[in-house]
Amino acid sequence: MFQHTAIRILRPAFLLIFFLSSCSSPATPSPIPTETEPPTSSPLPTETALPTDTPAPVPTAAPALARPQYVIDLRLNYSTHAASVTQTITYPNWSGETLNDLVLAVQPNFWQGGFAVRSLLIENQPVSTYTLDGQKWTISLLQPLPPGGTLTLVMEYDLILPRMQAYANPDEVRPQIYGYSDRQTNLVDWYPFIVPYKPGEGWILHNAWFYGEHLVYDPADFDVTVTFTDGTTPQVASSGAEVPAPTANSRRFVLEAGRTFAFSISTVFKVAQQTVGNVTVFSYFFAFYDAPGEAMLQTTIEALQVYSQRFGPYPHKTLTAVQGDFNDGMEFSAFYFISRDYFNLYDGTPKNYLVIIAAHETAHQWWFDSVADDQALEPWLDEALCTYSERIYYESVHPDMVSWWWGYRYFEFEEPGFVDTPIYDGGGQRPYWDKVYLTGARFLEELRARIGDETFFAFLKDYYTQYAGKRATGADFFRVLREHTAADLTDLMTKYFKNTY
Ligand SMILES: [Zn+2]
Repeated sequence: MFQHTAIRILRPAFLLIFFLSSCSSPATPSPIPTETEPPTSSPLPTETALPTDTPAPVPTAAPALARPQYVIDLRLNYSTHAASVTQTITYPNWSGETLNDLVLAVQPNFWQGGFAVRSLLIENQPVSTYTLDGQKWTISLLQPLPPGGTLTLVMEYDLILPRMQAYANPDEVRPQIYGYSDRQTNLVDWYPFIVPYKPGEGWILHNAWFYGEHLVYDPADFDVTVTFTDGTTPQVASSGAEVPAPTANSRRFVLEAGRTFAFSISTVFKVAQQTVGNVTVFSYFFAFYDAPGEAMLQTTIEALQVYSQRFGPYPHKTLTAVQGDFNDGMEFSAFYFISRDYFNLYDGTPKNYLVIIAAHETAHQWWFDSVADDQALEPWLDEALCTYSERIYYESVHPDMVSWWWGYRYFEFEEPGFVDTPIYDGGGQRPYWDKVYLTGARFLEELRARIGDETFFAFLKDYYTQYAGKRATGADFFRVLREHTAADLTDLMTKYFKNTY
């Protein structure tokens, strides 16, 4: 994510939840076997599948599955902001351990009354042995799931969407993305998902925090159908590629090997789109914002081309950028938001936050969606790289603006700190950004100067190639780096990092 302005307080209900839940312990580096296995055939349609009129079959237990599969039938009343959902998760156990329970993250349960389970079946057996405590849904398994086994969960639940908070002073609250405004409904982290399991340690579900992101994701395949039960026919911005839907008032989207599936829905969206190579880029924006909406599209296309060349291929068939009706930018799989405020400030040139953040959020498709990390404990692995990717975008597309970018980005810089700071130790929103984003970008600039452009970019490409579809740690980052250089980095490590790698 990136938000320019400071945050000082949170809405009280959210605070209470933070204090009631407990934080997971830090995890040690260990690639999960799921992500190292070669993909096998999937019952879900692919992003490039030929359109058919047949809904996807409900997956059955298939131990050969490379990753979890989510088939979600969302029935949304756009007018009343209520939804009922039927969701099937097919979960292969690649942990190497016998699992006696499952842990799912349920972000809509942060809002009191926002999430209600109607039924849960595991292997067609009704299950009531679970606890739902804040965001954590722990389901005890009647039969342990052995290594290599596969479970199918079918759940039905209701969502009541919260109204996105409209505070008098938007600088003083954490921006709320999930929910609805007068002109937009955003479904982000809106369905229960099984969190990653780390062998020897357990399930990874960290506390939410006042700033930064706390969720960690396994890659999964998604097949999501949204049906509008009130007859509304809005525009639907989505992770994933659209395939023919089962009914006239439905829309259906598929995403392969994504981290998280997002929707933004509006009856007043305008859309611009362009296909570059085999990727179609969409830009959704509100009326009267055609110029910044077009700039968001073009910047995304330019950044997509720069990063594909510098880091490696973009893994999805679509990339959707959306004007968020809130004060924030935020990344999801094949999808991102840019704040309405940057649309308002757009001045028709590349020297503004609309272009900076479009380049930043596009980079998250490499550093977050493809190469994932533990966003709570090692947020620098995606945020420092995405901030530095802004610099790579400008030097490639607007080379005369690189020095402007450094100065503009550091305008509010307060104090340096260690790059490898968890969100919980950030010391406030602005100091957190300064440590993780901006000092992180400074580190990468110094590293690049030390080892040279050729080695630096060969390293980034190799790091991306080795960890695409997996979750990397700081130790992984430096292991790959040291495969590319024998340079003495001791002074840089001491200056920028609290931990030794
Ligand atoms: Zn970011």
